[in-house]
Amino acid sequence: MTVAHGRVILIGAGPGAPGLLTVAAMDALRAVDVVLYDRLAGSAFRRYVRPTARLVDVGKQPGRSQDVQDEICARLVSEAKAGRVVARVKGGNPFVFGRGWEEVKVCADNGIPVHVVPGVTSAIAAPTAAGIPLTHRGLTPMFTVVSGHEDPGQDRLPVDWELLGRLGGAIVVLMGVGTVGDYAARLVAGGRRPDTPVVAIENATTPEQAVHRSTLARASADFGHVGLGSPAVVVIGEQAALAESLGPAATSILAPEIAHEGGMTRRLGGWRIAIPRSIARESALAPLLRAEGAVAVEVPVLEFVSPVDPDPLRAAISALRAGRVHEVVVTSAVAADMFVSALFRAGSDVRALAGVSVVAAGPHVATVLRRHGLSADLGDIPPLGVAPHLRLVLALEDEDSGGEQPAGPEAYSPDVEVVPVGRARLHRGPPPRLDEPATLDAVVFMSSRTVAAWADLALPRPPVVACIGPRTRAAADRFGMAPQVVPASPTLPGVVEALAAFASGRVGPPSEPG
Ligand code: SAH
Repeated sequence: MTVAHGRVILIGAGPGAPGLLTVAAMDALRAVDVVLYDRLAGSAFRRYVRPTARLVDVGKQPGRSQDVQDEICARLVSEAKAGRVVARVKGGNPFVFGRGWEEVKVCADNGIPVHVVPGVTSAIAAPTAAGIPLTHRGLTPMFTVVSGHEDPGQDRLPVDWELLGRLGGAIVVLMGVGTVGDYAARLVAGGRRPDTPVVAIENATTPEQAVHRSTLARASADFGHVGLGSPAVVVIGEQAALAESLGPAATSILAPEIAHEGGMTRRLGGWRIAIPRSIARESALAPLLRAEGAVAVEVPVLEFVSPVDPDPLRAAISALRAGRVHEVVVTSAVAADMFVSALFRAGSDVRALAGVSVVAAGPHVATVLRRHGLSADLGDIPPLGVAPHLRLVLALEDEDSGGEQPAGPEAYSPDVEVVPVGRARLHRGPPPRLDEPATLDAVVFMSSRTVAAWADLALPRPPVVACIGPRTRAAADRFGMAPQVVPASPTLPGVVEALAAFASGRVGPPSEPG
């Protein structure tokens, strides 16, 4: 990248709930190379950052020293000058007690393009989350947002609390946990009634949200008593008591959606994951990835056609109809479909399987067989060794998806016959179109065939490559793709777990400044 690309985006991450990160913040985060974040930024933003982006905890807490701030400013400038797109992620809104302007200014002074994504400020979200209207017709037409943190000798101007006491309207205090006794007294001195309601909202909008109620006269003692911690927003005014009149409804006023959107619980939230598959059927993996919050991009690269040598399949169907087969093992969903089609082509149907035990190599295969009217047992791929009676294994040539079963007949006991029911080849139609390939975070290969097809089509390699199992990994290695994710068990849930673990590894300890 060249210097010309470097820029800085100040992003407000909202008060902490994943659902209160804005859509614009999500979009901006997807494009950044480096993220400088601090304590109040929460963790929801991490879902949207590319796996390759560097996350740097700049550890700034409100009220910390000028040195720390200077270091952050210097870092913003140097990262951007190195040509990187830098996100500066802050809690709430970057321009509400976030020292955002200082960072904007230093960028501008250094000729670095700088943008701001406004965020949902805790000054407004916290009272709202506690059921406190900031304005209310007939009660109060205004509110004031003020810092409770005064630092004589430092850079903050003194607040005229007595004036605020006279002014009326709700007062929303940020950084005001430790000093509540002082400013409460000054508000009373200014003319507020000592019994004016005061509500402290701790960890607002997060699952740890706690609401403490008191009055101006008692706030210091009451909040000290409950051990009120930071971060908390303190709201002073008559309307602070309104929520109580709601009864139990007040405690559930926070929409549950805000906890889920983009999902704390969804481990692959924001990931765009390509799944190369056959044109014939939708990927069974896609819904599982979507359930974890990922965007699954299915890419049809293969098609299935008849086996090169159709005779074994023909012979197998004759053997079935003659009642010479005891058990049929179906290794994949595609094999199931192709086998049933072959039965039809031979003038037969699933009745040819009457009295035969049908084994599916996994739950997904069983589901597909059920759609064909076949109730299958779940089973393993036939092990090496002596099978008690003739079993047919219906497989695709070169198949190694799903169960990662051994491919060739040599892998099975002599009583087991492996019958190729079809074969995959590069899809002959127009090549698949990938929307925004550069924004793909990962690709999941479910078979070595898809690896080869991906390479043949010269599709881009996303930062993270996952393979269902060792055989597929070997194929990916051969094509120089260096897969980072291979599950311990070669199953669909196994891949999902491995990807989620990989993703959450990034959510854990932040990567070190490089
Ligand atoms: N830019 C931020 C404010 C930074 S100052 C914003 O717009 O929200 C830090 C103060 O914000 C804390 O002392 C606390 O008063 C408040 N705060 C931030 N997040 C909060 C939360 N989830 N719950 C309660 N208070 C919060």
